[in-house]
Amino acid sequence: MKKLPPQVDLPALEHEVLARWARDKIFERSLEQTASGEPWVFYEGPPTANGKPGTHHVEARVFKDLFPRFKTMQGRYVPRKAGWDCHGLPVELAVEKELGFSGKQDIEAYGIAEFNAKCRESVQRHVDEFEKLTTRMAYWCDLGDAYWTMQPSYIESVWWSLKQIYDKGLLVEDHRVAPYCPRCGTGLSDHEVAQGYQTVVDPSVYVRFPITSGEWAGKASLLVWTTTPWTLVSNTAVAVHPTVTYVVAKAGDELLVVAEPLKHVLGDDVEVLASFPGADLEHTTYSRPFDWVDIPGAHFVGTADYVTTDSGTGLVHQAPAFGAEDLLVARKYRLPVVNPVLPDGTFRADVPLVGGLFFKKADPALTQDLKSRGLLYKHQPYEHPYPHCWRCDTALLYYALPSWYIRTTAVKERLLEVNAGTDWHPATIKTGRYGDWLENNIDWALSRNRYWGTPLPVWRCPEDHLTVVGSLKELSELSGQDVSALDPHRPFVDDVTLPCSCGQTARRVPEVIDCWYDAGSMPFAQVGYPHTGVEPAYPAQYICEAIDQTRGWFYTLMAIGTLVFDEGSYETVLCLGHILDAEGRKMSKHLGNVLDPHELMDKHGADALRWYMLCGGSPWASRRIGDAQLEDVTRKVLLTWWNTASFFTLYADANSWDGGTGEPTLIDRWALSELHATVAEVTEALEGFDSLRAGRRLERFIDDLSNWYVRVSRRRFWDGDPAALTTLRDCLVGLGTLMAPFTPFLAEVLHDALVGGDSVHLESWPVADQAAVDTELGEQMALVRRLVDLGRTARAESKQKTRQPLSRALVAAQRWDALPQELRDLVALELNVGGLERLSGDLVDVTAKANFRELGKRFGKGVQDVAKAIAAADAASLAEGLRNGTASVLVDGTEVALGPADVFLTETPREGWAVAQFGGETVALDLEITPELRRAGLVRDVVRLVQDARKSSGFDVSDRIELWWTGQDEVADALHEGSLKLAEEVLAVSVTEGRPTADLAHHDDLELGLRFWLRLAGR
Ligand SMILES: [Zn+2]
Ligand SMILES: [Zn+2]
Repeated sequence: MKKLPPQVDLPALEHEVLARWARDKIFERSLEQTASGEPWVFYEGPPTANGKPGTHHVEARVFKDLFPRFKTMQGRYVPRKAGWDCHGLPVELAVEKELGFSGKQDIEAYGIAEFNAKCRESVQRHVDEFEKLTTRMAYWCDLGDAYWTMQPSYIESVWWSLKQIYDKGLLVEDHRVAPYCPRCGTGLSDHEVAQGYQTVVDPSVYVRFPITSGEWAGKASLLVWTTTPWTLVSNTAVAVHPTVTYVVAKAGDELLVVAEPLKHVLGDDVEVLASFPGADLEHTTYSRPFDWVDIPGAHFVGTADYVTTDSGTGLVHQAPAFGAEDLLVARKYRLPVVNPVLPDGTFRADVPLVGGLFFKKADPALTQDLKSRGLLYKHQPYEHPYPHCWRCDTALLYYALPSWYIRTTAVKERLLEVNAGTDWHPATIKTGRYGDWLENNIDWALSRNRYWGTPLPVWRCPEDHLTVVGSLKELSELSGQDVSALDPHRPFVDDVTLPCSCGQTARRVPEVIDCWYDAGSMPFAQVGYPHTGVEPAYPAQYICEAIDQTRGWFYTLMAIGTLVFDEGSYETVLCLGHILDAEGRKMSKHLGNVLDPHELMDKHGADALRWYMLCGGSPWASRRIGDAQLEDVTRKVLLTWWNTASFFTLYADANSWDGGTGEPTLIDRWALSELHATVAEVTEALEGFDSLRAGRRLERFIDDLSNWYVRVSRRRFWDGDPAALTTLRDCLVGLGTLMAPFTPFLAEVLHDALVGGDSVHLESWPVADQAAVDTELGEQMALVRRLVDLGRTARAESKQKTRQPLSRALVAAQRWDALPQELRDLVALELNVGGLERLSGDLVDVTAKANFRELGKRFGKGVQDVAKAIAAADAASLAEGLRNGTASVLVDGTEVALGPADVFLTETPREGWAVAQFGGETVALDLEITPELRRAGLVRDVVRLVQDARKSSGFDVSDRIELWWTGQDEVADALHEGSLKLAEEVLAVSVTEGRPTADLAHHDDLELGLRFWLRLAGR
């Protein structure tokens, strides 16, 4: 056993522990030790290595650490392979920024090989940062054998899986309108779009489209509503719902066509001239708002079932190049798809007024032009969520683009089944956020028109014959050249051509794939399956990330597992809430409020940060973090724990404790019972992935030990009572083992001090001894603590300090009679009273008044009668009834039951008593102070003064002293009577009245008129 000082610098200790772990290879040994255990599979969701890690990265990594540590201690084999997400837009954009590029032209001019080399460098740099964080926070995973999604073997596995999907007919190229980032020059998948919605204010315009054929030609206009005026340049048709009723309405002096349910947009004062189903409008021609772009054979009304009357006018403007539904309508009526917007998001230069303008910037000029020509009916700002690029924040547009898709809609039912069998925490995500997402599944837009990514392994000849390649070996065979050592990235892979069976040459299609596909392939790609012959561990028992992965990694992992193996890839998933700054704002570079995790850990320690993440609130909710929260954790949990352990080592050392045991007292038995109850509850909580419940139980146990067990047993520790020392040691050792997965540093230091040996992290998880759990005793001790609290409240109100002994306290509590004498004595001791008696009769005057507000809800006007009955009732028995749930009054001969909320009770203690009551329990202190009690109080005052003097003189807790004193009157009388008691309390071998002969410093207390001297005994 090592003696622990009372003061400690936790962050400094952590650095020592890190060095010890590295030297003794504790993580590696914990794996070796469990290698024959039943595997428990964990998947590391790879962080994108495109920036410095932030505090939010600590959050997921703490949870990813906790449960594998717990399972390892339970004897399960839990390999933890680190992983890094290397590809994709995030990395490309970081490099573009570094190089000062503004788009794809710059990259092509720079050279794809050179650009990709820069991306690789950037990844390496950021992975270094992540490794530092991972090590510092003690997230134990195998960094030396990490998977990198840019490794050739990883890419080959991804190719293999895509070939499986292609062979099932689920990888297809299609021309669809897809979300597209004009800045990045690439389409995005639905799950990427889902991550980038921002609320924006767009102009919403109501535009007149004058009718040019049929009965209303030259008289009425179609009224069309849109929030994207820039698409009006490409207007090709107007869609109406075939069965919804439309009207020609007279508004002011003009005639407008709108859906009947929406005619209120024209104001209250409209006259309906005609009404008919939408189908009657089909093929009605109109004059379009802008005729700058050639769109032949168009500009008439079509019908479509997707048109709703939720908002707008029920007439939907159609621009097939910019809307998926519009494209369907265009196909139905064989309308041309005309797109005047270039891939960089600007209007073609030849378009009048807005040529060269970015699409989103064209709205004001176009709206102004409509207004000047009298076509604008009205316009107003419209606030709505609009998708933005999740990486570069540019507003997306829906854009007709040839893309490669995975037909996830074909496996939607299977995905729903797989999800039904998945254990989500919190459970609401399963059918809510995630379930909805699956229900509305659309095909996965897989391809990206970019550079730094896994190349899509599709080769195509001029005759459109496709060859999908599943490995470099296969590519060697097909191409007739050995490319097994080729870097499978662009541009190198683009140079490999295949002879097609038709005799022509096949070249790779230019696209790379969505980097989220890489991440979702990690279960098999991390081991290079199937090319390496290593079987993937599948599925995972446990994965965990922040909630934004619901539509990211959680989805791609499940989708790929289902597509390739027809099975889900994880059994349990934890979805963590976001980490906010101290003011409750999301941390972002824009706001400059990103907390550097290293700074936090250097200031407060990794353990404090870990504990806060794991147990500082519901993991599913957003949580604020700042210095205050971490200081709180340090004070309440870590230092309280440390101080208790330090106290133990201090007294074990002072008494030269040899480890001998003694006869445990009831209080010892209680502490051990709480230990085993804690083991049971923490184990159960962690089995259920509930770190918060586990943490709360542990906090309670730390409080039990420090603020109760040690406090009420202080005397026994001074005396070196072996039963007390054994009990506290066992509790601290058990606690340390339970804390090990949460706060691995402090657990290690305390284990080292109390037990020694290798490491707490090589220990087995404790198993609760149910026989040691005494529920009855636990409840009795809880009662004792409540009574002591009540007694203290009464003391505080009476202004009598606790050091002043009182003759007696009276107690009323339901289970008082069953309380063992030892525990009653404990209450008396803690309250500093001579004895305890059962309270009988009343020590308080009670008055009762009706709570009108509460009773009014139940009795309405009858409340006055009830109030009268309450006022007339015997207040004391009413109070008693309220306490035991039987209170009632008679109102007009009817019995009315009353609850605690119905009555205001005022209880005034009788003269000479201090009374505190709560929940039916009462403690009353007899305040009469006899001269004898007064003298006993004075002795206690002197004890306190001498203890303070001992401390300030720097004496050790076990040092014996000699004491001299001078004083008069009461204090002299008190000390004559109580010198033995004083000697015992302050460890004095002699207490002498009078000055010492030696020249010693004196201590004075003017209020008591006391002067005293002390020195170490035997000098
Ligand atoms: Zn972008
Ligand atoms: Zn061919």
